[in-house]
Amino acid sequence: MIDFSIDAPLPASVTRRGFMFVLSSPSGAGKSSITRALLERDASLTLSISTTSRRRRPGETEGKDYNFVSSEDFQIMINEGKFLEHAKVFGNYYGTPVASVKQQIEAGENVLFDIDWQGTQQLKATARDDLVSVFILPPSYRALEQRLKKRNQDSDAEVAKRMAKAADELSHFAEYDYVIINSDLEQAVDEVYAILQAERRKRARMNGLTNFVRELQDGF
Ligand code: 5GP
Repeated sequence: MIDFSIDAPLPASVTRRGFMFVLSSPSGAGKSSITRALLERDASLTLSISTTSRRRRPGETEGKDYNFVSSEDFQIMINEGKFLEHAKVFGNYYGTPVASVKQQIEAGENVLFDIDWQGTQQLKATARDDLVSVFILPPSYRALEQRLKKRNQDSDAEVAKRMAKAADELSHFAEYDYVIINSDLEQAVDEVYAILQAERRKRARMNGLTNFVRELQDGF
């Protein structure tokens, strides 16, 4: 397989602008597995670590999965304008820290976001040109339920709450640029990766092309 994450070298006068690559889905549709696989496959991708007021689950690491803060501290951070976007999901706050994302994009890096539809709408409103969004759908209701139960990290009440919320979350699929149905994880990862690689090569993300083409024309 060709490794498309390694670009053919660009002329020195041409640079590439990165973008925000958002993956959203109802809980249990396989988004975390896809996120993990993408980060392994594409070294140019960095993960935006969100801040949340929800409690840390077993196996989660502070600073790696989330930055965990109290609800009070989250409110203070909202007031101080520390978030690019934020939303309340399942009664807890989640937000994307504003620091670093802008610099990363300018530097040509692609930043992966695992955020919900509310956050995606906010990013769309403020940075449409730098946003590529993908919605992951489960292949069936049953598959979603089974995945949530298998995860077994949340209580039964939490699973029920998330299932009830899934129907509402699903209704936002049409707000996304791309939709992937995750019936086979490997295939879903391939498809999301293909989107990522095509989007990286968009003309609008390349700076200096006009001058480069002018120089080419001068050679004729
Ligand atoms: P979980 O509690 O399962 O880690 O995440 C619950 C939901 O919150 C997921 O749908 C996830 O995409 C969303 N989420 C995580 N971080 C953020 C964030 O920074 N902003 C927004 N808007 N949603 C987030």
